Amino acid sequence: MKTEISAALLGDGAAALTLLAKLMPWLTGKRSMEEILGSINAALGASLAWVLIEQGAEQQLTSVGEVGCTLQDAQALLAHSQLRRHQRAWRVICWRRQVATLLFPGDKEASNKLKSGILCKLNAKDAGINGYFFLAFSQVAPSLSIMKNMVVILVEKLKDFLAEIIVRDRVEKEMQHIVAQYKVLFDRAPVLMNSFDKNNRCTLWNGECERLFGWTLEQLNQQPDPLALFFPDPLVRQKVRASVNASPGVDMDEWHPIRRDGQVLTVLWSNILLPDHSILSIGLDITERKKAERQLERKATIDDLTGCYNRFAILQQLNASLRSCNMADPRSHFSLLMLDLDHFKSINDRWGHPTGDAALIHFCDHIREHSDPSWFFGRLGGEEFLILMPYTSSKSALRFSQKIRASLVRTPLFSIDEKIILSFSAGLVSVTDDRVDTSVLLTLADNALYEAKRAGRSKTVIADAFL
Ligand code: GH3
Ligand code: MG
Ligand code: MG
Repeated sequence: MKTEISAALLGDGAAALTLLAKLMPWLTGKRSMEEILGSINAALGASLAWVLIEQGAEQQLTSVGEVGCTLQDAQALLAHSQLRRHQRAWRVICWRRQVATLLFPGDKEASNKLKSGILCKLNAKDAGINGYFFLAFSQVAPSLSIMKNMVVILVEKLKDFLAEIIVRDRVEKEMQHIVAQYKVLFDRAPVLMNSFDKNNRCTLWNGECERLFGWTLEQLNQQPDPLALFFPDPLVRQKVRASVNASPGVDMDEWHPIRRDGQVLTVLWSNILLPDHSILSIGLDITERKKAERQLERKATIDDLTGCYNRFAILQQLNASLRSCNMADPRSHFSLLMLDLDHFKSINDRWGHPTGDAALIHFCDHIREHSDPSWFFGRLGGEEFLILMPYTSSKSALRFSQKIRASLVRTPLFSIDEKIILSFSAGLVSVTDDRVDTSVLLTLADNALYEAKRAGRSKTVIADAFL
């Protein structure tokens, strides 16, 4: 069939015109260049058709046919010395036979498949297009002029919509490029991106989500409710859904989803409403940052050696307790116990500094063991401590200090082969209003403590009432 078409075309002018007329309706700008070249091949029985477009230094080849042709092959043909010599003058060049030797120099097999060919300049100056159209047949051409005329008509028609196709192809390529860029961004950005539809199915799940949570999109959608993997509590899940579906805003809210290995994460989520009305959730994993913040906070408020509050933190707490203290509310009253280990220097002197450290830790562990969880225990410095006891009478506080003393006797610190019994002196102040400031309060406690030392140590002295 194909041989008949091309034989008629290459030899019989009338037949060629008929075929061309049938082909014309297929040549429309609505089709892609590949489709158009395919139609030309099919209608005319050609074995190869290509269009080479030059835009600046860039050359782009679209080649269709049973014989493959690369940009380099097309360039080899165009670079042929004969074409160069006639560069300005020619518009159409025909080869009756052996065109394959120019396209595919040295390729014997290809030269059997292609015999005649025709090359036509495709200059549409209005559209700023410069290029070439090439058509080749597997037969030797009996008449060159029929081929020439036919291709000139074809090219005139091609030029009409070539600009349209080129612009469209370019836009399509740009779109593909943009899509490829966003795909990489979506998969590789160190940002969590996901989307759930109205039926609670996960529709988007980027690489970072997979990496952080440990689930793939397929695994999620095998679950009856994928969100339950991250938020097992139905009430929390309800809040998550409400936050995603109600009114997307730019605020980042903190959530604590569970990842596959059971670790609870801290993630900031924000929602973006997309043009198709779906909602994209964007998240940042701040688990490590939060952990570091908590460690820093701990470092800033906790005493390294003993694990109780440091001077800054306990004084801050004292300040706050004092400010909220008022006579009418007994729940706001508190007792303050200032403690100082007795003859502590002699422990250092006798057993060494590390044993002195161990004694401080032993003392603090002891206090903690017997304290109420609502109390605040801090180290003022050296071997001096404060215990702030909310809603505790001076009587109870006194009883506590005596209990600790007795307990320290029962459970001494052991240093190699010796028992070290720790003792302490204390000053106690009871606070029932906010008429004094922190420094006055500390002075009162300190004076009472001094009294205890003077009175022979291992005692608690209650400060005189202040007015
Ligand atoms: P007093 O009964 O009058 O309170 O006598 P003291 O020996 O306890 O008091 P003094 O103020 O004379 O000595 C306190 C000692 O506490 C001196 C200091 O070297 C020691 N000290 C302070 N901080 C630390 C610490 O972190 N580790 C150790 N091992 N010793 C400390
Ligand atoms: Mg001391
Ligand atoms: Mg001291």
